[in-house]
Amino acid sequence: MGFEEMQEAGDVDTIWLDGEFVDWDDAQIHVLTHGLHYGTGVFEGVRCYDTDEGPAIFRWEEHLDRFYESGKPYNLDIPFGREELTAATKELIRRQELESCYIRPIAYYGYDMLGLNPESCPVQVAIAVWPWGAYLGEGALEEGVEVTIASWQKYASSQIPTNAKTTGPYINSVLASLEAKREGYVEALLLNQEGNVAEGPGENLFLVRDGEIYTPGLAEGILDGITRNTVITLARELGYTVHDDATISRGELNTADELFFSGTAAEVTPIRKVDNVVIGEGTRGPVTTDIQRTFFDLVERRTDDHPEWFEHVEA
Ligand code: PMP
Repeated sequence: MGFEEMQEAGDVDTIWLDGEFVDWDDAQIHVLTHGLHYGTGVFEGVRCYDTDEGPAIFRWEEHLDRFYESGKPYNLDIPFGREELTAATKELIRRQELESCYIRPIAYYGYDMLGLNPESCPVQVAIAVWPWGAYLGEGALEEGVEVTIASWQKYASSQIPTNAKTTGPYINSVLASLEAKREGYVEALLLNQEGNVAEGPGENLFLVRDGEIYTPGLAEGILDGITRNTVITLARELGYTVHDDATISRGELNTADELFFSGTAAEVTPIRKVDNVVIGEGTRGPVTTDIQRTFFDLVERRTDDHPEWFEHVEA
């Protein structure tokens, strides 16, 4: 569903912009905004889940940490504190009576001049929230998705920091996604500069082999995904051996018993095929099923585990 349809459905009508709650249609910026021209912005993607105790934001503190940290290499100091951003987000969810939603905070260099050095530009900040279901489509969580290895490689961390969510570099993910869709796949998988497996355009990758779990380490040029960290933690609690600094060659994908994606938007999504190769039985495998069930039991609060990971949006 697009934003206009959401608005017609009455789901969303307010955005928080530089300290004010504004009507959705009034959340506008100048065309000479630095971040529009050079991608000098940082952002987050967070989910808020519907629980018996009302909406609960998952791992908000960790997302805030990454939001502030992503700006560091660009001297982009977010001019609002954690309490202000938290209060604004909760108020957006309450006002629009959302039970569950996706949360998009963004901070970017604004309007002043268009030299490459952005430091004279003001840092502007916005937060929007909206309902967002399964990112990789209906049925993806149960049946798994088909992915293709992108012809575009993931940029190296020696070129652009990969452990930050910076707006500009997402064109790399956009290229990979476009290519995947064009070729009839749901999602792409990117190799790094060494030709090893990095991650999806907006997801981290996990591989299961002989009952053990592997995921590329940060040195492979991946985002330090918060869902990745959640999966690693939950899998270890379930008793699995997790190798969280693996190097995974392209060929190892083909011989995996199971593959799955993790991400805020994608949650835990099985991968059933990579290009022409069927992975395992071509369905959601037993380890993926175990982890996916544990993940959804956690985020929808069917268990009391990890209360420290939830920020409740009280009435
Ligand atoms: N890799 C990339 C490139 C991403 O954009 C995302 C989504 N933020 C992820 C991995 C998954 O990270 P997270 O679990 O923190 O959403």
